[in-house]
Amino acid sequence: MDLSTIRERLATVDAALVDALVARQGLVREVARLKVDGGAALRDLPREEEVLTRVVERARDAGLDGFLVTRLFREILGHSLRTQEGALATAGKASGGAVRVGYQGTEGAYSHSAARRHFGPRGGEATYHGYDSFEAMLEAVEASEVDFAVLPLENTTSGSVTLSYDLLARMDLALVGEEIQDVDHCLLALEEVPLSRIRRVFSHPVALSQCGRFLSTLADCHVEAFTDTAMAARRVRDEQDLSQAAVASEEAAGLYGLVVLKRGIADQRENYTRMAIVARRPIACDLRVPCKTSLLFATRHEEGALLRCLAVLADHHLSLTKLESRPRPRNPWEYLFHVDFEGNLADPDVAQALRELAGRTSYLKVLGSYPSRTSAEARPVEPRPRASLAAAPPEEARTEPVPVEKRPYTLASRTERSEDTVISVAGVAVGGGRPVIIAGPCAVESREQVRACARIVKEMGGDLLRGGCFKPRTSPYSFQGLGYEGLDMLAEAGAEAGLPIVTEVMHPADVGPVAEKAHVLQIGARNMQNFSLLKEVGKVDRPVLLKRGMSSSIDEWLSAAEYVLSQGNHMVLLCERGIRTFETSTRNTLDLSAVPVLRERTHLPVLVDPSHAVGVRRFIPPLCRAALAAGAQGLMIEIHPEPERALSDGPQALTFEMFERLMLSLAPWRAAGCSGGRAYS
Ligand code: PEP
Ligand code: MN
Repeated sequence: MDLSTIRERLATVDAALVDALVARQGLVREVARLKVDGGAALRDLPREEEVLTRVVERARDAGLDGFLVTRLFREILGHSLRTQEGALATAGKASGGAVRVGYQGTEGAYSHSAARRHFGPRGGEATYHGYDSFEAMLEAVEASEVDFAVLPLENTTSGSVTLSYDLLARMDLALVGEEIQDVDHCLLALEEVPLSRIRRVFSHPVALSQCGRFLSTLADCHVEAFTDTAMAARRVRDEQDLSQAAVASEEAAGLYGLVVLKRGIADQRENYTRMAIVARRPIACDLRVPCKTSLLFATRHEEGALLRCLAVLADHHLSLTKLESRPRPRNPWEYLFHVDFEGNLADPDVAQALRELAGRTSYLKVLGSYPSRTSAEARPVEPRPRASLAAAPPEEARTEPVPVEKRPYTLASRTERSEDTVISVAGVAVGGGRPVIIAGPCAVESREQVRACARIVKEMGGDLLRGGCFKPRTSPYSFQGLGYEGLDMLAEAGAEAGLPIVTEVMHPADVGPVAEKAHVLQIGARNMQNFSLLKEVGKVDRPVLLKRGMSSSIDEWLSAAEYVLSQGNHMVLLCERGIRTFETSTRNTLDLSAVPVLRERTHLPVLVDPSHAVGVRRFIPPLCRAALAAGAQGLMIEIHPEPERALSDGPQALTFEMFERLMLSLAPWRAAGCSGGRAYS
């Protein structure tokens, strides 16, 4: 046979191999369909092992390398498993449609390979879109420009990708899958040249650091950091210089027409990157699929808090696969803990564990459950004859969670948590022994006005600076606040005086941006039952000051707090600000009886705002003292340098002089501390 005849025959054999794979994949889809309808277990480990043993034996009998066949079939069985998992994950939903997938970098980057491997078995059409940064890629998911994004989380050599964790904490996104990418770094060049001729090597800094030992053996060679591995390969192609090389994947070599000078150049052979598949909304996973759940939380301000949180997972036999701590934004020396464990939110026991965990955290965000790629059960088996294998999951594991009738609020209730909740606002403890004072103007009007207020608040021993930027005014013709410009003035004044700031949010879309600058988000009386707003503030890691609605009962108010808590944000401060009655002598009627009632019913801190309650400045000081006597754990007071010129709520603003006198009169009350919630029973 001459060379061209052999090549023709090879082409025929290759085509037959592809046809065989197509036929196999068709059968796999049939199996997946039957499993979705019939409820059979996803994995049949003895069968997988039998398949592998059979093909390896056949190969060996025919004189073919068993190792080659094992490797090929591991890939094929892995693909089959993903297909079946995909079918279970999307059962009942429209599937097979076109999906748009974002990744960071250019074609041939490791993230791109991971994306193709993950979305390949889905069927339907997937398009891949490269982004310059993780942030731009995740914003594209938020903006629905793409349906999914592939986000590297950790590498077995270089550790966690901390930026990814910080973005997941900040953005409102879900995890719906993971993928393991085998990172096999190669040295790529234009042609087969001796290594001694290479003078410059480009790659991503992480890739360079992972190949440090090999690179140091190249004499007279300069190593240069580049935006990503695939771009480094592209540069080597573009510059056509035989002395240049790139560290990238074999796939990148194929894409950019380069040759592999050396394979496996990483210091550690076991070099894998775990990537998360990110989407806007979480998915429900079938209980037959081995799953992981990811979440992040902040602990309460208590001794041994982290240990108590992790103990919940241990008590429920949920195995931890990852624990990462990151600095908590705007809270120096506090941390957000990112946890992955083996388990599925659809499992009632996992749901119960998370309810218990919620009670021990001050902030909890569940990112979702998704098919695991790292648990032993999630990988295709090795062809090793073994006598006994893991049995299919027991029948009871598949039962649906039983809905239980809920009380209107539980997380907010004293019966759920007997100790007072202490909330740390940038180091100021609210709800602890010492009553806190929040003071400032009704509305931020100018840089000078808010600065003057900040100074006097600090000077007189106040704890937090308040100021409205988005004002909920009864008339649309009244001053509406300075918006974000005002927020900048408030933030500046607070920072200068060393006071954390409190400001009101009125629209769900403002919650994220305002939370970037304010230490506490206020929900005004008029919005106490704005449920979409409550859910939104429930998702951010920022304390919420929830005013009582002017016609709301205490239980309605606690149910509103429950909205925030049930989203994972356990930092709610309740603030009584007067209710509507028949009385017209004061703006509202300060319901001081709410204070002891609340202290009995809830563990959350209770504050009183006498300013909005009475609306008349001279009545405010006695009511401040009365509130503390009743057990309030803090006060919110409006002040203004020139109340007669105030753009809102002038009649109730204390002059600086009145505020000074008030603060002096409160000193003994503050020194005495708040009476405990138990004092009322
Ligand atoms: C405020 O505190 O500025 C305010 C508008 O209060 P309330 O929502 O209690 O009326
Ligand atoms: Mn006001």
